[in-house]
Amino acid sequence: MSEYSETLTCAFHPKRETQLRCNRCDKPICIKCATHTPTGYRCPECIRSQQKVFITTKWFDQVIALVITGLISFLGSLFNFLGFYTLFIAMGAGFFAVWAVKKAIKNRRSPLLKIVMSITAFLASLPRIIAWILTTLPFIREYGLAASWGLYSLIWSLAYSIVITSNVYYQLKK
Ligand SMILES: [Zn+2]
Ligand SMILES: [Zn+2]
Repeated sequence: MSEYSETLTCAFHPKRETQLRCNRCDKPICIKCATHTPTGYRCPECIRSQQKVFITTKWFDQVIALVITGLISFLGSLFNFLGFYTLFIAMGAGFFAVWAVKKAIKNRRSPLLKIVMSITAFLASLPRIIAWILTTLPFIREYGLAASWGLYSLIWSLAYSIVITSNVYYQLKK
């Protein structure tokens, strides 16, 4: 009888005997339920509640991320006249946006943040391209390809959009 009371059974599998306990909540757990963490064995429940901590963003964090990313991406896109150096501006703006947002929302994180920031970085770089189309197309229509010098800045604008979007995305990927 006393032996029976000393035998632990897994809290998730009542039929399985075990010697292990979760080192956080002390529930007995079988080896299949146990996850080895740097601090010891954890039960599935504790692992789950631990993972929730990684999704820590509040809804307004997404708004902050949107405003900061949008502003930086838009300002950066104004430098498309720099030609090749636009690519460096795009990288710099991408790093700056991620750094500034992380600082502003105190490093809170969530998978949604990556999506919000990548899409915002992309969308905020579009007004420059739209402005190009609106201002340059009438010239091209009137003067033909002689006015296509404007294509130069369009190409760098597009490159900027691609670089800043993928830069932000890959920074937040991990
Ligand atoms: Zn536990
Ligand atoms: Zn179990």
